[in-house]
Amino acid sequence: MTELHLNTKLIHTGEHDRADGRVVPTSTPIHSSTTYVYSSAAALDDAFAAGDTNVYYIRHGGPTTNQLEQVMTVAEGGRGAVACSSGMAAIYLAILAAGTPRGSMAPQPRHVLASHDLYGADHVLLRDFIATHGAQITYCDMCDMGQVAAQIEECEPDVVLVESISNPLLKIADIATIAKLARAADARLIVDATLTTPILQQPLQLGADIVVHSATKYLSGHGDALGGVAVARTSLVLDTLRNYAHTLGMNLGAFEARMISRGIKTLELRLHRQCASALYIATALEQHPAVKRVIYPGLTSHPQHAFAAAQFGGKFGGMIAFELAQDSREAAFKFMDALSLVLPATSLGDIYSMVTYPPLSSHRELSVDQRRAQGIGDGLIRLSVGIEDVDDILQDLTRALALL
Ligand SMILES: *Cc1c(COP(=O)(O)O)cnc(C)c1O
Repeated sequence: MTELHLNTKLIHTGEHDRADGRVVPTSTPIHSSTTYVYSSAAALDDAFAAGDTNVYYIRHGGPTTNQLEQVMTVAEGGRGAVACSSGMAAIYLAILAAGTPRGSMAPQPRHVLASHDLYGADHVLLRDFIATHGAQITYCDMCDMGQVAAQIEECEPDVVLVESISNPLLKIADIATIAKLARAADARLIVDATLTTPILQQPLQLGADIVVHSATKYLSGHGDALGGVAVARTSLVLDTLRNYAHTLGMNLGAFEARMISRGIKTLELRLHRQCASALYIATALEQHPAVKRVIYPGLTSHPQHAFAAAQFGGKFGGMIAFELAQDSREAAFKFMDALSLVLPATSLGDIYSMVTYPPLSSHRELSVDQRRAQGIGDGLIRLSVGIEDVDDILQDLTRALALL
């Protein structure tokens, strides 16, 4: 048989393995057992010796979580994956592993070069947990390759952290170029690919060392499971990720693992629908008199439109940001309160369409001036497009806009 398509692999990987001739369940069950018995003490000894691909104690992995790790390894084309209790746990884990010198088993990140445009909690993580343990943090604009090259040369970072598409301003990172610059300087590149998912882009294939996801978003997709995944390109980094995750107890539980794995089976269907609907909605909003500006990579008005088209195979993701003509918090709140279908809720990537106001959620920690410096105005709304009928979503948005 020829190589299967990614979508097919997302449905079957790690499930119903009939290799040993036994009758097996089609879908991997939720194995809640914390321990496993072997036929003899010697066999148990062998299981421990073989390491964390075996099951013996749940903190070192169980069949349900292992299946999720297998499918994500295949999805990203990596060496292996570690499922974590949240996206933040996966990011923390990735920074620790990336900041572990070769030949060492102790995390010592020296200097993290991070994108300006990171998820809000990442800034807190870097400031209060990474920097306080002695690492330096430098921020730069990861869309400006001259700046990235200059900062890598000046700071000599050992860890570089970037998001594939940033949130909420939807800036697109040139991962292949950043990976080349990082590699030449012996730094490891972490890409948070939550907004792109393996359907739009596979950062490890572009040279990244670790790809992380908040599985709470598109992978799970139904707004009912918290989780994260870190996938490694090399076995050295994979071993480090596993060692830290299993020592620090950052594991994902079996129930959540199954919910997320179930979500992944429809990821391509959902995301293709969300991309198509987002383009339709962004195009309509751009014509609306109550909207000053729409930020969506699929619009020709987006400064990286051509680059996005090349990177993501002609798709542009399910996230839209737009600025109201009335550039104020009052107008933003009035708009959100006037919606009846689209939910004013903070997450993204779900089957439900949701709007959020970044100053009250992801960018709450920043001052007004800091937000404005980042380009986040007072009337900026972020929309995560769901899988409802696109005309129903658009009608709800335009009806609420008409009330402003
Ligand atoms: C939500 C999110 C995170 C954090 O993930 P949790 O699962 O909430 O811990 C990190 N990065 C991005 C881009 C996110 O959207």
